[in-house]
Amino acid sequence: MSKTTNIIHSIPVDPLTGSISVPIYQTATFVQEAPGVNKGYDYARSNNPTRAVLENLVATLEGGSAAFAFATGLAAIDAVLKTLSYGDEIVAVEDIYGGAYRLFTQVYQKFGIKIHYVDTTDANRILDVINEKTKLVWIESPTNPTLKITDIAQAAKIAHAFNALLVVDNTFASPIAQQPFVLGADIVIHSGTKYLGGHSDLVAGLVVVNSEKLAVDIKFIQNASGGILGPQDCWLLIRGIETLELRVERQCQTAFKVAQFLTQCEEVDQVYYPGLASHKNHAIAKLQQHGLYGGVLSFTLKDDTEAAATQFVTATNYFKLAESLGGVKSLCCHPAQMTHKSIPREKRLASGIQDSLIRLSCGIEGTDDLINDLKQAFTKCATATLQTI
Ligand SMILES: *Cc1c(COP(=O)(O)O)cnc(C)c1O
Repeated sequence: MSKTTNIIHSIPVDPLTGSISVPIYQTATFVQEAPGVNKGYDYARSNNPTRAVLENLVATLEGGSAAFAFATGLAAIDAVLKTLSYGDEIVAVEDIYGGAYRLFTQVYQKFGIKIHYVDTTDANRILDVINEKTKLVWIESPTNPTLKITDIAQAAKIAHAFNALLVVDNTFASPIAQQPFVLGADIVIHSGTKYLGGHSDLVAGLVVVNSEKLAVDIKFIQNASGGILGPQDCWLLIRGIETLELRVERQCQTAFKVAQFLTQCEEVDQVYYPGLASHKNHAIAKLQQHGLYGGVLSFTLKDDTEAAATQFVTATNYFKLAESLGGVKSLCCHPAQMTHKSIPREKRLASGIQDSLIRLSCGIEGTDDLINDLKQAFTKCATATLQTI
């Protein structure tokens, strides 16, 4: 069965009315026949029928046993961290999402959680720091914004040898391109804000698990801490997911062509895209992402300055200058001045975020239109530079 057939038909028709669109249950509570006698719902923090449809859909999409919807991606990450106890340790991918880094170091470290950061592009580096206190190995693949790839199966083997769980933040690949559970992951995280939602019109997060014990643990935290996704946004996210495969396939194809185009541009120095044969872990990406390398890519300019990057990201028409990614509208971003501004320059440079690094998130516009947009931006920059000489 195709992924889209599976998605569309995992969304139930409303049994009460036949409504083909999932009803939005905008309610706080559910009337009971007698104390404790209800139709499976008692209070909307604990459960909501619209949310239940979304959670079942995402569990199906990832091949997990259960999923839990949260108000944002970071709220989903936070819920997983709350399963830990004082003294537990985490081994995390070095260039982890900035918001996760902030949460780990500025919130959880003071509660006695120790975090080790390692470059997991060689998964065996995890062995340098993992120990009997390690409860979670936390990776992203591809990473943001330099699209580094980790061998998920190898990371899972190492985590399991130390009785730790492997958490994969699958936001960048999306479940269309990569299914971490098949590769041995125990928990999958999504920022639903990105590809799942796909229209840059909501923020949401998901935790997906594949064991009954983890389902009980995360369900407990979801209800105990209460960072749930509201019914309107659950509905919007379901609506977005219906077209996930179509969007992601298109975005991956476009990103691949844009990456190839950029490698030919004389203004460009490096192009970071897992689909290019020159990428360090191209072979692993090819295996674990079934040839769908994602819709995000980055590149640096030969004129490796913030000024040159600023000029470029303000010269594009279709690539709108904004944070976030994964939506139908193409976006561009200058990490050094935007998403990664809070990281000291030396640390940024050490992880490959050069002054001129530009990140592109390809939307679903025509591929040629997007490439032409980049061409005209290069021309505009060259003309502006000539005029200043
Ligand atoms: C955006 C993002 C998050 C955080 O999600 P929010 O919905 O913004 O809270 C986490 N991980 C990755 C990889 C992301 O790109």
